[in-house]
Order: sequence, then C-alpha cells, then structure tokens
Amino acid sequence: MTLQRTLSIIKPDATKRNITGKIIQKFEDGGLFVVAQRRILLTQDQAEDFYSVHKERPFYNDLVNFMTSGPVVVQVLEGENAIQRNRDIMGATNPKEAEKGTIRADYALNIEANSVHGSDSEENAAIEIAFFFDEGEINS
Ligand code: ADP
Ligand code: MG
Repeated sequence: MTLQRTLSIIKPDATKRNITGKIIQKFEDGGLFVVAQRRILLTQDQAEDFYSVHKERPFYNDLVNFMTSGPVVVQVLEGENAIQRNRDIMGATNPKEAEKGTIRADYALNIEANSVHGSDSEENAAIEIAFFFDEGEINS
C-alpha cells in the first residue's frame, strides 16, 4: 500500500450548480481525505499553463475558456493509492462511458464540462500539486 497525494479540481460546471459538497462526499466515501482546498478563479494564463500538455488538441481553446468561465475548487486529496483511486471515483472522461456511481456518471454535463480534474500519474500529481499549493498549505 502506498500513501499518495493527488491534485483535484472541481470544475466550473459543478461550482455553478452548487454541487461541490456532493462531489467532496464521493471523495470522502472513497477513502480520500481533503488535505488542502481553495476556491479560486483561474486566470487565462493559469488555465493555459495547467493544460499545456493538451495545447495541440482541437479542444484546447474551448477547454481553457471553460475552465476560466467560473470558480473552481482546487484540492489536494490524500489516501492509499490516491492517484488511481481518485481516477476510479471520477470515472471516464466522457460521462457516457463513466461507470455508474462515479462523479462523472452522476454529475458531468458532457465530455468537456465533466465536473472534475484528477492527476493521472505520480509525476503529474507532484507537478500539479506544486502548481497550486505550497507544502505548508497541505495538512494531513
Ligand atoms: P481527463 O480529465 O479524464 O484526464 P484528458 O486529460 O484527456 O481527460 O482531458 C482533459 C480535459 O479536457 C477533460 O477532462 C475534458 O474537460 C476536456 N476534454 C477531453 N477530451 C475532450 C473532447 N474530445 N472534447 C472536449 N473536451 C475534451
Ligand atoms: Mg488528464
């Protein structure tokens, strides 16, 4: 077993619909602890930088516009195998393909407005956590 941390973002489609609590409940029910959390408005530069791996994808500009269209809640989640566990709790990128009971199956609007982001590897989790939080802001 490996105790890990992962970066989570509750996206604007979810903050606008006032379902951040329902989403956090899924993390907690799945054994993940919210060890850092902040509600912010991403700037255009931050959103472009955060999603720069997708720069060449056709949906990149829309994604940046979406992610800056309202508040987001950035979080560090901690728990056993937190990176994969969070991906399991989130469900597939496309809510039509997401398993029943996952966040995206229950709450996502479409493949873009899919309610949550979660890091996809140990390397990216470390980079993405450092993007938003200093070590002193994370309290296990
Ligand atoms: P995930 O968030 O599941 O890791 P990706 O890293 O592939 O998925 O994509 C990042 C985000 O870009 C997705 O969560 C979604 O908001 C958006 N996205 C991905 N694929 C598409 C698509 N085909 N059309 C529109 N938006 C997309
Ligand atoms: Mg991804």
